[in-house]
Amino acid sequence: MWQRVLFLFLLALAPCHHLSAEYQGGNEMERTLVIFKPDAVEQGRVGAILARFEAARLRIAGAKVLRLKEEILREHYSHLVDEPFFGNIVAYMSSTAVLLVVLEGENAVIRVREMVGPTDSTVAPKGTIRGDFGESKSRNMVHASEDVPAAAVEIARFFSPAELF
Ligand code: ADP
Repeated sequence: MWQRVLFLFLLALAPCHHLSAEYQGGNEMERTLVIFKPDAVEQGRVGAILARFEAARLRIAGAKVLRLKEEILREHYSHLVDEPFFGNIVAYMSSTAVLLVVLEGENAVIRVREMVGPTDSTVAPKGTIRGDFGESKSRNMVHASEDVPAAAVEIARFFSPAELF
């Protein structure tokens, strides 16, 4: 009898062990926003870049195509509105429709930033998305959220909860 009770007890515990093992080592499930900028769309790089994210076990939790207007770009790039090149950012980012993707995975925010590389494509290391496909500081293929709080704000800027899966 007691063996049976012990067996049922261990069976009940089994999924908990599985769950705690998955979250060991400080790996947090996160979501981050990636925008495939006009140069990625025009040069047909979206598929190649998305394949890298999928290979890195990042799941698509939401996606949409939008033509961004100045108003939302002023919000999204509010830290740059006073820069002399801000007009160029607006002209470039609104020149075609862009693809917005929410990616989900363990430590997604930092991992995606590392895969994307630094802002300036000309100094971004080979193997990074900007280093392999980007042209310059402005034409650098993708936007990726800088940190976890920024990711939450940016995802909410472009997606309603009902649009995320
Ligand atoms: P990141 O996209 O790497 O997070 P920033 O937030 O500093 O970088 O800048 C946002 C975007 O503004 C860049 O990706 C780039 O397209 C554009 N940008 C930033 N700095 C410059 C610059 N000095 N000249 C032209 N465009 C720039």
